[in-house]
Amino acid sequence: MTLHINTPLLESRPLSQATGRRIWLKLDALQPSGSFKLRGVGHACESHFARGARRFVSSSGGNAGLAVAYAGRQLGLPVTVVVPETTSAHAKTLLALEDAEVIVHGSSWHEANALALTLVGEDAAFIHPFDDPLLWTGHASLVDEVAKAGVVPDAVVLAVGGGGLLSGVVEGLQRNGWEHVPVLAVETEGAASFNASLQIDTLVELKQIESIATSLGAKRVAEQALVCARQHPVSSHLVTDLQAVRACERFLHDHRVLVEPACGAALALAYDGQRLGEAQNVLVVVCGGATATSEQIVAWREALTPA
Ligand SMILES: *Cc1c(COP(=O)(O)O)cnc(C)c1O
Repeated sequence: MTLHINTPLLESRPLSQATGRRIWLKLDALQPSGSFKLRGVGHACESHFARGARRFVSSSGGNAGLAVAYAGRQLGLPVTVVVPETTSAHAKTLLALEDAEVIVHGSSWHEANALALTLVGEDAAFIHPFDDPLLWTGHASLVDEVAKAGVVPDAVVLAVGGGGLLSGVVEGLQRNGWEHVPVLAVETEGAASFNASLQIDTLVELKQIESIATSLGAKRVAEQALVCARQHPVSSHLVTDLQAVRACERFLHDHRVLVEPACGAALALAYDGQRLGEAQNVLVVVCGGATATSEQIVAWREALTPA
């Protein structure tokens, strides 16, 4: 038993038609917490539980916090999530729905995170949103499921925030003997911390994030993301916020699944055959995201569309 589910893997007719290739969707938008994060977070929470943790602490008002809240509720443990004042009412409602204790503190994630760290006592485990080997091992299960289903991709498209998903997928590719399968790592232009770091092969910290894809908004990626790029074929790709949000709308129309712009970034690349190179069997990680609403997607697109 795991806390995450084995999500559907389907060949997308609309995306395959649009690109002239076979596009496979790994629908992690359908995880019970709404995103792939539950794979790694679930694995981390179960590991900490086995070692005696009786409480979980998170500082994510997004999908990582939701995954911790879900995992805690499933394991029967209390969860505290410290979020900054900028966190939307919708996100706080979703956390409360999972019975998490939500503490609002500080004007930025930095301040919320600092308070969260002080709450980690002897019996509590802090669950990081992207920078922890336990997370990567959990995320790698996504590739195991694709391999078990008998689908052999010749490229993988995924979104990069802090690089946890990238690190996990590369771990999964390597442990399934797919070390030659390239990963196309997509960010929005205003959240391109991986792209900046990859260019000089050194971690770069962005001054600020300027993107609606808040789930990609890590100012600095995990060191492991760069390690992956040294050990595995990984290329970096950028899309605009408008391309990401349009891809969300198109995907909602095509597959009736609502995802965040963070996931829309990966989908924007997947809809664009020209940017997929030679690959003929493309696996797209539909990473999901629970904080999007259809109203907000439309409002973003209208605000971003040039008059
Ligand atoms: C967290 C998240 C990402 C980015 O994942 P990282 O592990 O931070 O790179 C992308 N999409 C969604 C929906 C997320 O929740």
